[in-house]
Amino acid sequence: MRIVLLGAPGSGKGTQAYRLQKDMGLPQISTGDLLREAVAEGSNLGLQAKTQMDSGTLVSDDVVLGIIENRISATDTAAGYVLDGFPRNLVQAKNLDALLMRLDQKLDATILMDVDFELLIKRLTGRRTCSKTGKLLNIYFSPKEELDACLKAGGELRQRADDNEDTIRNRLLVYERETQPLIKHYDNRGILQVVDAKGGMDEVYIGVRGALNLVLS
Ligand code: AMP
Repeated sequence: MRIVLLGAPGSGKGTQAYRLQKDMGLPQISTGDLLREAVAEGSNLGLQAKTQMDSGTLVSDDVVLGIIENRISATDTAAGYVLDGFPRNLVQAKNLDALLMRLDQKLDATILMDVDFELLIKRLTGRRTCSKTGKLLNIYFSPKEELDACLKAGGELRQRADDNEDTIRNRLLVYERETQPLIKHYDNRGILQVVDAKGGMDEVYIGVRGALNLVLS
């Protein structure tokens, strides 16, 4: 099964893609994660991407399309995958359509993770990762015991470099301007499912699974 997870930054695409990977064995393909890896390695590609990522704008389509083509052509994705954070604009969506046609693959579903703006801001500004355990936490929503447990274990609550207020504002503007038009693109093709993504991750996951069962049935 080939799935696109569509939604604003902070809508929970990464969390849900990870769960689908764990339960359904569908590799999660996150362009954000792949770009962050390239930045951490200091590769050429990472150097090209870093400035745009730090400011919350989109990395060039050529770079991202190259990454996706490589990843989608790998053997572990032959049975399907979950695209998380790609496509992000119409050029990418049309290139994905062409690439899939070339590979004789088709998208089964696009899931729009629907969350209101206020909640997105809190999710993004509050998002932290425990440096010791890698656990994803939020200073507004995680139980105090979980936040304290990280500190007690000798970890720090780290914020992603692009989760500061200026960059977040930019990322949300870019989403509105560039990515939202994709909702119509996929709705016109009859493969868009909208999932209410404002609840906790277990509740949202029930919605995601429900949407996929609809596609399968
Ligand atoms: P994410 O982790 O999906 O929020 O992505 C973090 C950053 O990586 C974005 O703000 C962009 O700068 C860049 N990025 C991720 N995916 C894409 C994409 N499909 N196209 C262009 N830039 C991307």
